Amino acid sequence: MLKYLLIGVLVIWLLYSPLLKRMRQLRRDHPASRPATRPSPPPAAQVEDMVACAHCGVHLPASEACLDAAQRPYCCAAHRDAGPSAH
Ligand SMILES: [Zn+2]
Repeated sequence: MLKYLLIGVLVIWLLYSPLLKRMRQLRRDHPASRPATRPSPPPAAQVEDMVACAHCGVHLPASEACLDAAQRPYCCAAHRDAGPSAH
């Protein structure tokens, strides 16, 4: 009696498991069931190197720095003319 029950369960399982697998696959393939992919973050603003003024130490983007003959960065022409500070 138990043998027939086990065989019956096995037969039912064999019949239904491919069906369940297929259903699971279909559900997984469905775009709505997919976890929402986060929108990619906006591209970061162009990161620019920061340099410190050789005279006063203020930081500024490298592209805005005034360079002297020795390629030292300065925040402005006045500080470039004044030269690097002692400290
Ligand atoms: Zn300066």
